[in-house]
Amino acid sequence: RNPDHILQVQGLRAGHGQLVAVRDVSFALKRGACVALIGANGAGKTTLLRCLAGVHPALGGRLHLGAQDITALPAHRRVQQGLALVPEGRRLWADMTVRENLTVALEHRDAARAAAATAPWSIERALQALPGLVPILDRPAGALSGGQRQAAAIARALMSNPEVLLLDEVSLGLSPLVVDEVYRSLQALRAQAGTTLLLVEQDLGRALAFADRVMCLREGQIVLEAACAETTREAVTEAYFGMA
Ligand code: ATP
Repeated sequence: RNPDHILQVQGLRAGHGQLVAVRDVSFALKRGACVALIGANGAGKTTLLRCLAGVHPALGGRLHLGAQDITALPAHRRVQQGLALVPEGRRLWADMTVRENLTVALEHRDAARAAAATAPWSIERALQALPGLVPILDRPAGALSGGQRQAAAIARALMSNPEVLLLDEVSLGLSPLVVDEVYRSLQALRAQAGTTLLLVEQDLGRALAFADRVMCLREGQIVLEAACAETTREAVTEAYFGMA
């Protein structure tokens, strides 16, 4: 195994009943990299991320986080090992305030993992990375705007001290200004914490501008995987629609 790879996925398969949604997907994420996952509606992006997080059952394949085989670990153990998902729709505990959401996540994190971290995440540190949360800390999550919820969901995921953060449709339903803000926060995460990011992004221009690599999924298969600097919008669009 390559020690530079923080997440390694081999032959992952998953479905919904009879339907195959993820077919024999293999890829690796380099430590500290940012990879954008793109693909049309129904290509299997959400199912893939949910399988990696362990919240959707895989039918086959192997997953390694660092040197550890996490294939058999349930979702909460994967979080404790450093793999966190920010789900589509940013599910937060709606009746709890932002602070309470973060506190519950803090209480559930793996103590040994936090103790071993050189700079473990705290609520204060998350507020520095996501300053938009400061004025809304005591508001119920259910009363937040889409962008505020997204920021709170990212902060909540950070409480587990993730090495790898999986983000599903970070900009869905957000205004362009708010999307910019969310991406500034993600940029701060990359730069300051070195967190490895795998993010689903529908906006191809943004994906190519922000990520190091782009991966295109079509009908459950990876049809293109390239460094953003070495590919073109045209090549990615062709892979996306299957015109190649
Ligand atoms: P989107 O951008 O629309 O979320 P996606 O790329 O994330 O698309 P998935 O949501 O993973 O794709 O869907 C992959 C396939 O699995 C699609 O054919 C979809 O219809 C099907 N699918 C997804 N969720 C379910 C479900 N809960 N039950 C049955 N089929 C599902």
